[in-house]
Amino acid sequence: MIENCCICGKKVETIFKLPCIYPDNIGHYTQHIGICESCGLAFTQNPFTAQQLEDRYKNNSKYEYDSDDYYNIDIDEAYAKRCIRQKNFIDSNIDGDYSTILEIGAASGYNLSLYKDKEVLGVEPSKKNCILANKNYNVNMYNGMFSEYINENNCQKYDLIFLSHTLEHIVNPYEFIKQCRSICNKYIFIEVPTIDCQLVDELFAIFSDEHVNYFSLEGLTNMMNSLNFQLISSNIIHHSNVQIQLGYSVMSTLWKKTDENINKSIFIQSSKNLFQYYINSNNNKLPKIQSLINNIDDNEKLAIWGVGNHLAKLLANTDLCKKNIVKFYDSDVHKHSSTVFNKPIASFDESDIFEKRIDSILVATYSAQKTICKILDKHKNNCKIYCLYDL
Ligand SMILES: [Zn+2]
Repeated sequence: MIENCCICGKKVETIFKLPCIYPDNIGHYTQHIGICESCGLAFTQNPFTAQQLEDRYKNNSKYEYDSDDYYNIDIDEAYAKRCIRQKNFIDSNIDGDYSTILEIGAASGYNLSLYKDKEVLGVEPSKKNCILANKNYNVNMYNGMFSEYINENNCQKYDLIFLSHTLEHIVNPYEFIKQCRSICNKYIFIEVPTIDCQLVDELFAIFSDEHVNYFSLEGLTNMMNSLNFQLISSNIIHHSNVQIQLGYSVMSTLWKKTDENINKSIFIQSSKNLFQYYINSNNNKLPKIQSLINNIDDNEKLAIWGVGNHLAKLLANTDLCKKNIVKFYDSDVHKHSSTVFNKPIASFDESDIFEKRIDSILVATYSAQKTICKILDKHKNNCKIYCLYDL
Protein backbone atom coordinates (compact mmCIF):
# COMPACT_ATOMS: atom_id res chain seq x y z
CA MET A 1 0.00 0.00 0.00
CA ILE A 2 1.49 3.35 -1.07
CA GLU A 3 0.84 5.79 1.74
CA ASN A 4 2.82 8.84 0.66
CA CYS A 5 2.66 11.30 -2.21
CA CYS A 6 5.50 10.78 -4.69
CA ILE A 7 5.77 14.55 -5.24
CA CYS A 8 5.82 16.03 -1.71
CA GLY A 9 6.15 12.90 0.46
CA LYS A 10 3.13 13.73 2.62
CA LYS A 11 0.77 11.02 3.82
CA VAL A 12 -2.27 10.66 1.57
CA GLU A 13 -5.88 10.02 2.49
CA THR A 14 -7.83 7.17 0.86
CA ILE A 15 -10.86 8.81 -0.77
CA PHE A 16 -12.45 5.79 -2.43
CA LYS A 17 -12.38 2.00 -2.46
CA LEU A 18 -13.66 0.34 -5.64
CA PRO A 19 -14.37 -3.41 -5.48
CA CYS A 20 -13.76 -5.33 -8.73
CA ILE A 21 -14.01 -8.95 -9.86
CA TYR A 22 -11.53 -9.72 -12.63
CA PRO A 23 -11.00 -12.96 -14.58
CA ASP A 24 -9.95 -15.84 -12.36
CA ASN A 25 -6.20 -15.33 -12.74
CA ILE A 26 -6.68 -12.03 -10.84
CA GLY A 27 -10.05 -12.53 -9.12
CA HIS A 28 -11.33 -10.17 -6.43
CA TYR A 29 -9.46 -6.91 -6.05
CA THR A 30 -10.42 -3.70 -4.26
CA GLN A 31 -8.74 -0.67 -5.75
CA HIS A 32 -7.82 1.99 -3.18
CA ILE A 33 -7.67 5.53 -4.55
CA GLY A 34 -5.65 8.03 -2.54
CA ILE A 35 -5.17 11.75 -3.06
CA CYS A 36 -2.54 14.20 -1.84
CA GLU A 37 -4.43 17.20 -0.55
CA SER A 38 -1.52 19.53 -1.07
CA CYS A 39 -0.46 18.44 -4.61
CA GLY A 40 -3.81 17.20 -5.89
CA LEU A 41 -2.29 14.01 -7.30
CA ALA A 42 -4.64 11.02 -7.12
CA PHE A 43 -3.38 7.48 -7.56
CA THR A 44 -4.02 3.81 -6.89
CA GLN A 45 -2.49 3.01 -3.53
CA ASN A 46 -2.40 -0.74 -4.11
CA PRO A 47 -1.45 -1.10 -7.78
CA PHE A 48 -0.53 -4.36 -9.40
CA THR A 49 3.20 -4.87 -9.10
CA ALA A 50 5.57 -3.46 -11.70
CA GLN A 51 6.32 -7.05 -12.72
CA GLN A 52 2.61 -7.86 -13.22
CA LEU A 53 2.12 -4.73 -15.30
CA GLU A 54 5.29 -5.32 -17.27
CA ASP A 55 4.27 -8.89 -18.13
CA ARG A 56 0.94 -7.58 -19.16
CA TYR A 57 2.30 -4.89 -21.47
CA LYS A 58 4.96 -7.11 -23.00
CA ASN A 59 2.77 -10.08 -23.80
CA ASN A 60 -0.72 -8.80 -23.72
CA SER A 61 -0.62 -5.39 -25.30
CA LYS A 62 -3.97 -3.97 -26.27
CA TYR A 63 -2.11 -1.26 -28.08
CA GLU A 64 -1.21 -3.18 -31.20
CA TYR A 65 -3.38 -1.00 -33.36
CA ASP A 66 -1.97 -1.97 -36.72
CA SER A 67 -1.76 -5.71 -36.32
CA ASP A 68 -3.79 -7.73 -38.82
CA ASP A 69 -5.90 -9.44 -36.20
CA TYR A 70 -6.89 -6.25 -34.41
CA TYR A 71 -10.62 -6.34 -34.19
CA ASN A 72 -12.10 -2.90 -34.26
CA ILE A 73 -11.22 -0.78 -37.26
CA ASP A 74 -12.89 2.28 -35.67
CA ILE A 75 -10.17 2.36 -33.06
CA ASP A 76 -7.48 2.43 -35.75
CA GLU A 77 -9.07 5.52 -37.20
CA ALA A 78 -9.52 7.11 -33.79
CA TYR A 79 -5.88 6.43 -32.98
CA ALA A 80 -4.72 7.95 -36.24
CA LYS A 81 -6.87 11.03 -35.64
CA ARG A 82 -5.50 11.36 -32.12
CA CYS A 83 -1.90 11.30 -33.38
CA ILE A 84 -2.62 14.04 -35.94
CA ARG A 85 -4.45 16.14 -33.34
CA GLN A 86 -1.46 15.86 -31.01
CA LYS A 87 0.97 16.85 -33.75
CA ASN A 88 -1.14 19.91 -34.57
CA PHE A 89 -1.17 20.88 -30.90
CA ILE A 90 2.61 20.58 -30.64
CA ASP A 91 3.33 22.40 -33.89
CA SER A 92 0.92 25.21 -33.07
CA ASN A 93 3.05 25.90 -29.99
CA ILE A 94 6.66 25.05 -30.81
CA ASP A 95 6.84 24.48 -34.55
CA GLY A 96 10.43 24.56 -35.76
CA ASP A 97 11.91 24.52 -32.26
CA TYR A 98 12.53 20.79 -32.04
CA SER A 99 14.35 18.37 -34.30
CA THR A 100 14.63 15.19 -32.20
CA ILE A 101 11.82 13.21 -30.51
CA LEU A 102 11.79 10.32 -28.07
CA GLU A 103 8.39 8.70 -27.66
CA ILE A 104 7.96 6.49 -24.60
CA GLY A 105 5.20 3.94 -25.17
CA ALA A 106 5.43 4.31 -28.94
CA ALA A 107 2.92 1.54 -29.77
CA SER A 108 3.37 0.37 -33.35
CA GLY A 109 5.19 3.46 -34.57
CA TYR A 110 2.39 5.17 -36.47
CA ASN A 111 2.65 8.34 -34.41
CA LEU A 112 6.39 8.77 -34.96
CA SER A 113 5.91 8.10 -38.66
CA LEU A 114 4.12 11.48 -38.82
CA TYR A 115 7.37 13.25 -37.89
CA LYS A 116 9.29 12.35 -41.03
CA ASP A 117 11.53 15.44 -40.94
CA LYS A 118 12.69 14.75 -37.35
CA GLU A 119 15.10 12.28 -35.83
CA VAL A 120 12.92 9.90 -33.82
CA LEU A 121 13.19 6.92 -31.48
CA GLY A 122 10.34 4.95 -29.92
CA VAL A 123 10.63 3.07 -26.62
CA GLU A 124 8.08 0.27 -26.52
CA PRO A 125 7.73 -2.85 -24.32
CA SER A 126 5.77 -4.95 -26.85
CA LYS A 127 8.09 -6.81 -29.21
CA LYS A 128 5.33 -7.26 -31.76
CA ASN A 129 4.76 -3.49 -31.85
CA CYS A 130 8.48 -2.89 -32.45
CA ILE A 131 8.52 -5.30 -35.37
CA LEU A 132 5.44 -3.61 -36.87
CA ALA A 133 7.03 -0.17 -36.45
CA ASN A 134 10.14 -1.23 -38.35
CA LYS A 135 8.21 -3.08 -41.00
CA ASN A 136 5.34 -0.67 -41.66
CA TYR A 137 6.90 2.73 -41.01
CA ASN A 138 10.65 2.27 -40.91
CA VAL A 139 10.64 3.86 -37.43
CA ASN A 140 13.55 3.17 -35.06
CA MET A 141 12.46 1.43 -31.87
CA TYR A 142 13.98 0.32 -28.60
CA ASN A 143 12.21 -2.84 -27.38
CA GLY A 144 11.92 -2.68 -23.60
CA MET A 145 10.74 -0.64 -20.65
CA PHE A 146 11.90 2.96 -20.28
CA SER A 147 13.85 2.00 -17.13
CA GLU A 148 15.80 -0.53 -19.22
CA TYR A 149 16.40 2.07 -21.92
CA ILE A 150 17.70 4.63 -19.41
CA ASN A 151 20.02 2.05 -17.81
CA GLU A 152 21.44 0.80 -21.10
CA ASN A 153 21.81 4.06 -22.98
CA ASN A 154 23.80 6.84 -21.38
CA CYS A 155 22.08 8.80 -22.95
CA GLN A 156 21.32 10.88 -25.98
CA LYS A 157 19.20 13.92 -25.23
CA TYR A 158 16.06 14.72 -27.18
CA ASP A 159 14.41 18.09 -27.86
CA LEU A 160 10.96 16.68 -27.25
CA ILE A 161 9.94 13.78 -25.01
CA PHE A 162 6.55 12.47 -26.12
CA LEU A 163 4.25 10.80 -23.58
CA SER A 164 0.81 9.95 -24.91
CA HIS A 165 -1.35 7.93 -22.52
CA THR A 166 1.75 6.67 -20.78
CA LEU A 167 2.06 8.59 -17.51
CA GLU A 168 -1.20 7.26 -16.07
CA HIS A 169 0.38 3.78 -16.14
CA ILE A 170 3.54 4.67 -14.23
CA VAL A 171 3.68 3.77 -10.53
CA ASN A 172 5.97 6.66 -9.58
CA PRO A 173 5.30 9.42 -12.13
CA TYR A 174 7.52 11.93 -10.29
CA GLU A 175 10.61 9.70 -10.57
CA PHE A 176 9.69 8.90 -14.16
CA ILE A 177 9.53 12.58 -15.19
CA LYS A 178 12.76 13.18 -13.30
CA GLN A 179 14.40 10.53 -15.51
CA CYS A 180 12.80 12.09 -18.59
CA ARG A 181 14.25 15.45 -17.54
CA SER A 182 17.75 13.99 -17.57
CA ILE A 183 17.45 13.23 -21.30
CA CYS A 184 15.29 16.22 -22.26
CA ASN A 185 16.74 19.25 -24.04
CA LYS A 186 13.63 21.42 -24.24
CA TYR A 187 10.09 20.09 -24.07
CA ILE A 188 7.83 17.34 -22.76
CA PHE A 189 4.46 16.60 -24.33
CA ILE A 190 2.04 14.78 -22.04
CA GLU A 191 -1.46 13.54 -22.82
CA VAL A 192 -3.39 11.77 -20.07
CA PRO A 193 -7.02 11.19 -19.09
CA THR A 194 -8.22 14.11 -16.99
CA ILE A 195 -10.70 14.58 -14.20
CA ASP A 196 -11.10 18.31 -14.94
CA CYS A 197 -13.90 17.68 -17.40
CA GLN A 198 -16.22 14.91 -16.28
CA LEU A 199 -18.36 12.81 -18.54
CA VAL A 200 -21.09 10.85 -16.87
CA ASP A 201 -21.01 7.76 -19.04
CA GLU A 202 -19.46 4.37 -18.35
CA LEU A 203 -19.60 3.47 -14.69
CA PHE A 204 -16.40 4.64 -12.95
CA ALA A 205 -14.78 4.78 -16.40
CA ILE A 206 -11.65 6.60 -15.33
CA PHE A 207 -10.69 4.01 -12.72
CA SER A 208 -9.02 0.91 -14.16
CA ASP A 209 -6.50 -1.70 -13.15
CA GLU A 210 -4.06 -0.45 -15.78
CA HIS A 211 -4.16 3.18 -14.72
CA VAL A 212 -2.27 4.02 -11.57
CA ASN A 213 -2.53 7.82 -11.71
CA TYR A 214 -5.60 10.00 -12.13
CA PHE A 215 -4.57 13.48 -13.13
CA SER A 216 -6.27 16.80 -12.82
CA LEU A 217 -4.49 19.81 -14.27
CA GLU A 218 -3.71 20.72 -10.65
CA GLY A 219 -2.00 17.40 -9.92
CA LEU A 220 -0.05 17.35 -13.18
CA THR A 221 0.98 21.01 -12.87
CA ASN A 222 2.21 20.59 -9.31
CA MET A 223 4.25 17.56 -10.33
CA MET A 224 5.77 19.20 -13.42
CA ASN A 225 6.45 22.50 -11.63
CA SER A 226 8.20 20.71 -8.80
CA LEU A 227 10.59 19.34 -11.46
CA ASN A 228 11.00 22.80 -13.04
CA PHE A 229 8.84 22.31 -16.09
CA GLN A 230 6.73 25.33 -17.04
CA LEU A 231 3.34 24.86 -18.69
CA ILE A 232 3.31 26.27 -22.23
CA SER A 233 -0.19 25.17 -23.22
CA SER A 234 -2.95 22.77 -22.24
CA ASN A 235 -6.03 21.61 -24.06
CA ILE A 236 -8.90 19.44 -22.89
CA ILE A 237 -10.41 17.11 -25.46
CA HIS A 238 -13.93 15.85 -24.92
CA HIS A 239 -15.08 12.42 -25.88
CA SER A 240 -18.08 13.87 -27.69
CA ASN A 241 -16.24 15.56 -30.52
CA VAL A 242 -13.03 13.53 -30.83
CA GLN A 243 -13.15 9.76 -30.67
CA ILE A 244 -10.99 8.15 -28.06
CA GLN A 245 -11.12 4.59 -26.86
CA LEU A 246 -12.80 5.08 -23.51
CA GLY A 247 -15.46 7.30 -22.12
CA TYR A 248 -13.39 10.01 -20.49
CA SER A 249 -11.90 13.36 -21.39
CA VAL A 250 -8.18 13.76 -21.94
CA MET A 251 -5.80 16.69 -21.65
CA SER A 252 -2.91 17.51 -23.95
CA THR A 253 -0.17 19.51 -22.27
CA LEU A 254 3.18 20.91 -23.34
CA TRP A 255 5.94 21.76 -20.86
CA LYS A 256 9.20 23.66 -21.20
CA LYS A 257 12.29 22.69 -19.23
CA THR A 258 13.61 25.58 -17.12
CA ASP A 259 16.27 26.06 -14.47
CA GLU A 260 14.09 28.38 -12.41
CA ASN A 261 11.88 27.46 -9.50
CA ILE A 262 8.23 27.88 -10.35
CA ASN A 263 5.71 29.30 -7.87
CA LYS A 264 2.86 27.03 -6.88
CA SER A 265 -0.33 27.65 -8.86
CA ILE A 266 -3.66 28.08 -7.12
CA PHE A 267 -6.57 26.19 -8.69
CA ILE A 268 -10.17 27.31 -8.21
CA GLN A 269 -11.44 23.71 -8.04
CA SER A 270 -9.35 21.43 -5.88
CA SER A 271 -8.61 17.95 -7.21
CA LYS A 272 -10.20 16.51 -4.12
CA ASN A 273 -13.52 18.22 -4.88
CA LEU A 274 -13.37 17.13 -8.52
CA PHE A 275 -12.84 13.51 -7.51
CA GLN A 276 -15.53 13.60 -4.87
CA TYR A 277 -17.99 14.95 -7.42
CA TYR A 278 -17.02 12.25 -9.93
CA ILE A 279 -17.39 9.46 -7.39
CA ASN A 280 -20.77 10.76 -6.20
CA SER A 281 -22.17 11.08 -9.72
CA ASN A 282 -21.10 7.50 -10.52
CA ASN A 283 -22.59 6.19 -7.30
CA ASN A 284 -25.82 7.86 -8.37
CA LYS A 285 -25.77 5.88 -11.63
CA LEU A 286 -25.57 2.51 -9.92
CA PRO A 287 -29.30 2.13 -9.09
CA LYS A 288 -30.31 2.50 -12.76
CA ILE A 289 -27.82 -0.15 -13.86
CA GLN A 290 -28.90 -2.40 -11.01
CA SER A 291 -32.54 -2.10 -12.05
CA LEU A 292 -31.66 -3.08 -15.65
CA ILE A 293 -29.86 -6.14 -14.28
CA ASN A 294 -32.87 -6.95 -12.08
CA ASN A 295 -34.89 -7.37 -15.30
CA ILE A 296 -32.84 -10.41 -16.24
CA ASP A 297 -34.58 -13.61 -15.20
CA ASP A 298 -32.52 -15.64 -12.73
CA ASN A 299 -32.94 -18.84 -14.75
CA GLU A 300 -32.23 -17.40 -18.15
CA LYS A 301 -29.02 -18.72 -19.78
CA LEU A 302 -27.13 -15.46 -19.99
CA ALA A 303 -24.00 -14.72 -21.98
CA ILE A 304 -21.96 -11.60 -21.27
CA TRP A 305 -20.13 -9.79 -24.06
CA GLY A 306 -17.21 -7.64 -22.96
CA VAL A 307 -14.71 -8.90 -20.38
CA GLY A 308 -12.89 -5.77 -19.30
CA ASN A 309 -12.61 -3.28 -16.49
CA HIS A 310 -16.23 -2.37 -16.86
CA LEU A 311 -17.42 -5.94 -16.29
CA ALA A 312 -15.10 -6.23 -13.28
CA LYS A 313 -16.95 -3.28 -11.70
CA LEU A 314 -20.41 -4.61 -12.66
CA LEU A 315 -19.71 -8.03 -11.15
CA ALA A 316 -18.52 -6.57 -7.85
CA ASN A 317 -21.01 -3.71 -7.46
CA THR A 318 -24.31 -5.16 -8.74
CA ASP A 319 -26.18 -8.47 -8.49
CA LEU A 320 -25.02 -9.54 -11.95
CA CYS A 321 -22.95 -12.40 -10.57
CA LYS A 322 -26.12 -13.95 -9.08
CA LYS A 323 -27.53 -14.44 -12.59
CA ASN A 324 -27.21 -17.68 -14.55
CA ILE A 325 -24.15 -16.67 -16.55
CA VAL A 326 -23.15 -19.49 -18.90
CA LYS A 327 -20.70 -17.82 -21.30
CA PHE A 328 -18.34 -14.90 -21.63
CA TYR A 329 -17.54 -13.35 -25.01
CA ASP A 330 -14.69 -11.04 -25.87
CA SER A 331 -13.23 -10.36 -29.28
CA ASP A 332 -9.75 -9.82 -27.82
CA VAL A 333 -8.01 -13.18 -28.33
CA HIS A 334 -5.50 -12.33 -25.60
CA LYS A 335 -8.27 -12.88 -23.08
CA HIS A 336 -9.24 -16.32 -24.37
CA SER A 337 -6.71 -18.12 -22.20
CA SER A 338 -8.46 -16.82 -19.04
CA THR A 339 -11.73 -17.79 -17.37
CA VAL A 340 -14.35 -15.97 -15.26
CA PHE A 341 -16.00 -18.00 -12.49
CA ASN A 342 -14.32 -21.01 -14.19
CA LYS A 343 -16.24 -20.33 -17.42
CA PRO A 344 -14.27 -19.82 -20.60
CA ILE A 345 -13.90 -16.51 -22.43
CA ALA A 346 -14.31 -16.93 -26.19
CA SER A 347 -15.25 -15.03 -29.31
CA PHE A 348 -18.95 -14.54 -29.96
CA ASP A 349 -20.38 -17.67 -31.56
CA GLU A 350 -23.82 -17.35 -33.15
CA SER A 351 -24.38 -21.10 -32.98
CA ASP A 352 -24.84 -20.56 -29.21
CA ILE A 353 -28.09 -18.80 -30.16
CA PHE A 354 -29.22 -21.29 -32.84
CA GLU A 355 -28.48 -24.30 -30.66
CA LYS A 356 -30.13 -22.71 -27.59
CA ARG A 357 -27.03 -22.78 -25.43
CA ILE A 358 -27.92 -19.21 -24.43
CA ASP A 359 -31.20 -17.26 -24.08
CA SER A 360 -29.82 -13.75 -23.79
CA ILE A 361 -26.75 -11.56 -24.08
CA LEU A 362 -25.76 -8.66 -21.85
CA VAL A 363 -23.55 -6.14 -23.63
CA ALA A 364 -21.22 -5.22 -20.78
CA THR A 365 -19.23 -2.48 -22.45
CA TYR A 366 -19.80 1.19 -23.05
CA SER A 367 -17.13 1.90 -25.63
CA ALA A 368 -18.03 -1.05 -27.89
CA GLN A 369 -21.77 -1.18 -27.18
CA LYS A 370 -22.72 0.29 -30.56
CA THR A 371 -20.41 -2.02 -32.53
CA ILE A 372 -21.64 -5.11 -30.70
CA CYS A 373 -25.32 -4.16 -31.00
CA LYS A 374 -24.88 -3.82 -34.74
CA ILE A 375 -23.55 -7.40 -34.89
CA LEU A 376 -26.35 -8.68 -32.65
CA ASP A 377 -29.17 -6.86 -34.40
CA LYS A 378 -30.02 -9.76 -36.74
CA HIS A 379 -30.34 -12.11 -33.75
CA LYS A 380 -32.71 -10.02 -31.67
CA ASN A 381 -35.74 -12.17 -32.49
CA ASN A 382 -34.02 -15.31 -31.21
CA CYS A 383 -32.08 -13.93 -28.29
CA LYS A 384 -32.76 -11.16 -25.77
CA ILE A 385 -30.19 -8.39 -25.92
CA TYR A 386 -29.55 -6.23 -22.86
CA CYS A 387 -27.70 -2.93 -23.13
CA LEU A 388 -26.84 -0.77 -20.16
CA TYR A 389 -26.42 2.63 -21.80
CA ASP A 390 -28.55 4.97 -23.89
CA LEU A 391 -26.27 5.75 -26.81
ZN1 LIG B 1 1.85 15.76 -2.51
